Amino acid sequence: MHNAAFAKLGLNWRYVAYEVDPANLRAAIEGARAMHFAGINLTVPHKILAMKMVDELDVSAKIWGAVNTIRFEGRTRKSQWLPLGQFEKETPTEVRSVGFNTDADGLTNSLREDFGVELSGKKVLLLGAGGAGRAAALKLAAENVGILFLVNRTFGKVLELQKEISVDFPSAYICPDYPRALENKIDLVINATSLGLKSDDELPFDKKQFSLKQAAAVYDMIYRPAETKLLKAAKKAGCKTANGLGMLLHQGAKAFEIWTGKRAPLAEMRRALVQNLKANP
Ligand code: NAP
Repeated sequence: MHNAAFAKLGLNWRYVAYEVDPANLRAAIEGARAMHFAGINLTVPHKILAMKMVDELDVSAKIWGAVNTIRFEGRTRKSQWLPLGQFEKETPTEVRSVGFNTDADGLTNSLREDFGVELSGKKVLLLGAGGAGRAAALKLAAENVGILFLVNRTFGKVLELQKEISVDFPSAYICPDYPRALENKIDLVINATSLGLKSDDELPFDKKQFSLKQAAAVYDMIYRPAETKLLKAAKKAGCKTANGLGMLLHQGAKAFEIWTGKRAPLAEMRRALVQNLKANP
C-alpha cells in the first residue's frame, strides 16, 4: 500500500520489508539512520523494544507504550529538526530518530469508518490483552467508552491493564469479565487475540459465558483470513461485522503522513491492500 501511495504522489521512494532478529534491532535502526532512510515501520516483536532505542518519543508512543513507526529527522543549518524525507538539497548536520504509534488511531478510525459509530458512551467487550489488545483498551478508555469489558486467557494481564487504565484514565469504567446477562446488550465486540489466524482455531470467547446474540457489531483485528470463524458466526447471529483491514490501512496512512508530510492517498492504498490480500488470502 505504501509503494502504491508513493507512485500515486510521484515520490521516488520505496517501502521494503526486512526480517530482523530482536537481538539486532538496535543495529538495524542505527543502520537505517546511517543510510538516511525516511523512516521505519516495526511489527511484533519489536514495538515495545524500540521504545528504548529511539532518541525521542512522540506523545502517541508515550501514551500507547509502543513504537510502530520511526521517523528520522535531520538538523538543518538553521538548527531546526526536519523530517529527512522532506529535505531537498541541503544535507542534515545531524540525524535523530523519533518513535510514534499509529496503531491506536488506526483502530478507532477503522471502527468509525466501518460501523459509522461514535465510541463515546458505548458498551464494548475487548477480547485479548496482548500488544494490540492493550493499546486498544487504552485508546477506547481515552475515547470515553461507557463500559469496557476486558477478557483475556491470562487473567493477570487483564488486571495489570485495568490498573494501568485507572492511572491514565481514572474515570474509565472497566469490568474485568464478560457482560453477564443475555439482556446486557453490547454495542461492540473486538477480537484482539490471535485466535482466528488459523482455520482450526476456536472462537476467541467462551460460549458458556457470552453469546453473540448480545452483540450489535463485531470487529476482528485479523484481516487474513478476511472472514474468520468469529466473523462468520457474528454474521449468522445478525451482527454488523468488519475485519482488521481498515486498521491496517489507517495505521499505514498515518505513518505515510508522518514520513512525507503529505496527505495519504487512502483510496489508492486501500486498492493495493485489497488486491494484495486477494492474491494472498
Ligand atoms: P500478542 O501480543 O502476541 O497477543 C496475542 C493475544 O492473543 C493475547 O491476548 C493472547 O492471550 C491471545 N491468545 C493467543 N493464543 C491464544 C489461545 N490459544 N487462546 C486464547 N487466547 C490466545 O499479539 P498482538 O500483536 O496483540 O496481535 C493480536 C492479534 O491482532 C493478531 O491476530 C494480529 O494479527 C492482530 N493485529 C492486527 C492489526 C491490524 O492492523 N489489523 C494490528 C495489530 C495486531 P495471552 O495473553 O493469554 O497469551
